[in-house]
This record gives sequence, structure tokens and C-alpha cells, in this order.
Amino acid sequence: MKAFQYATAHSPDSARQLVADNGAYLAGGNDLLGLLKEYLVTADPLVNIKSLPGLNKIEDGRKAWTIGALVTIAQIENHADIKKTFPGLHEAASEIASLQIRNVATVGGNLAQHSRCWYFRQRDVKCLKKHGDLCYARSSENRYHSLFTGNDCISPVVSSLATTFAALDASAIVLRDGKELRWSMAELYAEAWKNPYAHNSLQPGDLIVRVEIPTARSRSAYMQISDKHAFDWALVSCAAAAEIADGKMKSPRVALGSISPVPHQSEAANSFLDGKVLDDATATQAADMILKDAKPLEHNAYKMPMAQALIRRTLLKLKGDA
Ligand SMILES: Cc1cc2nc3c(=O)[nH]c(=O)nc-3n(C[C@H](O)[C@H](O)[C@H](O)COP(=O)(O)OP(=O)(O)OC[C@H]3O[C@@H](n4cnc5c(N)ncnc54)[C@H](O)[C@@H]3O)c2cc1C
Ligand code: SF4
Repeated sequence: MKAFQYATAHSPDSARQLVADNGAYLAGGNDLLGLLKEYLVTADPLVNIKSLPGLNKIEDGRKAWTIGALVTIAQIENHADIKKTFPGLHEAASEIASLQIRNVATVGGNLAQHSRCWYFRQRDVKCLKKHGDLCYARSSENRYHSLFTGNDCISPVVSSLATTFAALDASAIVLRDGKELRWSMAELYAEAWKNPYAHNSLQPGDLIVRVEIPTARSRSAYMQISDKHAFDWALVSCAAAAEIADGKMKSPRVALGSISPVPHQSEAANSFLDGKVLDDATATQAADMILKDAKPLEHNAYKMPMAQALIRRTLLKLKGDA
């Protein structure tokens, strides 16, 4: 690890000033400290944001809930009213990593975590994402990689919270140079879709301050499949959310994680599901639409039937059938 200066910020403005052009924000440190130790990122100074006031709160509201960027994943998992209001968010939080990690990992850090591609994580490999010439995964070990991408890097977004927030149509509020920007999950990762060097759309100094979740969809569900039962990222994850009135879905949204640099969504499938009664045939048809343009690679085609089954099961779980 390279030597660095360390500072603690007590307000968002001071955090921005301290981090300047070459620093990094330190939240729970689960991802960042590993990246620093492996010389994958440099940060000077390292700005501890854990003392920023007010960002560790969950606030309920009639139209929307607010979750501060410093709220831990365990806080979400253990919040009884979140379990009732956003069951899919509770399920996603409780599947992340391990209890020890969930106790310190934060919402902001989860959304901004870097690629898990093993070539990226290997300090001696200079792949495209690290401004080398080649994506090594494309022609080699790509079992954990994307089925969709808009650029030559095939590393997917692995944040389970991002998948669920996308289905719930939540917004990330990002502080950039004193102004608040409101981004959908699609916007938070749009840069990673088109730019091989990017992990997300954040620029140096951008601070996620909170996430706002509309209450419009009272049903939500999340499911994932991983190699290991715990302490592992998803091979594929799926979240779905909707209102159900008279047995019919209203404003449904489905999102998938670990298969694209952005939480993968299909507006055509969401429109197709709108107003439908959920049954196996409808859920299967939606899954076909969502996966229509997928481009499996040599070693990750197994994700196709996995995603198909997850979409169907997660949708049926919305009405309690899975
Ligand atoms: C074994 C293992 C299994 C895991 N499984 C999963 C899983 O299934 N699903 C999943 O989603 N995650 C999983 N994780 C990842 C884990 O959830 C993240 O590492 C963690 O959430 C990061 O949060 P943190 O607060 O520790 O972030 P940090 O490590 O402190 O920060 C991570 C990055 O985010 C930036 N950052 C932090 N806060 C902000 C902010 N407010 N604004 C802007 N940038 C910010 C930092 O500068 C850094 O670049 C797993 C991790 C491990 C070790
Ligand atoms: S998928 Fe992306 S991070 Fe992985 S080797 Fe290719 S360019 Fe690098």
C-alpha cells in the first residue's frame, strides 16, 4: 500500500474540499482498503466520511423513504418496517456477504464498489479497465462476466442494492460541487455501460448522500444465485417490484444484477407486464423479453437459464407463489 494522508470530514463541503482531485472517500472500507493494499487505486488523502452528520439515518415518508449513504447494510436488514414496506430490499441486504461485512458496509460504498473481475483485481495485470490494451476476460476466463455490455469491458455491476433500487425506481442523490444531482440507477451506472474505464458515473469528488425510494410499489422481491451459500457475490440476481390491484400488476419493474455494467432492465418487458395477471406463462414471456439481446460468452452461457428461472421465480414471488 502506498503511503497516504488521512483526514476526517465533518461536513459534505469539507469532505469535498479534503478529497480534492486525488483523494478517495472511506466509508466501511470493505472494498477500498483491499483496492489500496493491492495498489489498484491510490488515494491521497483518504477522507473518512463516517462522521458526516445525518447520513446514517433511515427516514420513512408517505411518498418516499430516504436512506442515508452511511446507513449500513445491517441497518437495512434489521429494520422491521423496511421488511414490511420493501421486502425485496430486506431480502437483498440479508444476502450480501456476511454478517461482519454487513455490520460495517454502507449503502454509498455498496453502490460505488469497484469491478470484481479477477483480471482487474490482479495487481500485475493491466487490462483495458486499467488503461491497458486488452480485455483479457473476453477471450479467457469469463464465467462471472456480462451477458450485455456497451463497450469492450465485460465486467458487470455486482451491487445487490443497485439491482433492488432499480426495480423500486429509487434515485441516488449525488452531491457534485455543492449541487445535488438526482440519478436513477440506470444513470448511476450509465458511464460504465459506455466507457471501459468507468465503474459507475461518479466523478472524482462526487459524494452519494442518500437514496430515495418511492413507496408506489408495495410488492417487491429479490432472489440471487451464488456459487457459495454465503460470503459470496451473485452469479445472477433479480429484483422485481409492482403494485398489485385486483390481481393485476401496476407499474411493474424487473432488474437483474451481475449480467451487465448497469442493472439490466427492459422497458418493453415492464410495459408488457403492466396490467397483466401474474402467472407462469406471463412471467416466462417477460423473461424471454428481458434476455432477448443477451450475448453469452464462451464460459457464461449458464447464466441464461439461471436468469430465466430467477426472473420467473422473482415475479411469481411478488404474488406469493414462489
Ligand atoms: C466476501 C464478500 C462478499 C460480498 N458479497 C456481496 C454481494 O453479494 N452483494 C453486494 O452488493 N456486495 C457484496 N460485497 C461487497 C460489499 O457489500 C461492499 O464491499 C461494501 O458494500 C462496500 O461498502 P463500504 O462502506 O465498505 O465501502 P468502502 O470500501 O468504504 O468504499 C467503496 C468505494 O465506494 C466509494 N464510496 C464510499 N462511500 C461513498 C459515497 N457516499 N459517495 C461516493 N463514493 C463512496 C469509496 O471511495 C470506494 O471507492 C461483498 C464483499 C465481500 C468481501
Ligand atoms: S472485463 Fe473489464 S475489468 Fe475484466 S479484464 Fe476485461 S477490461 Fe479488465
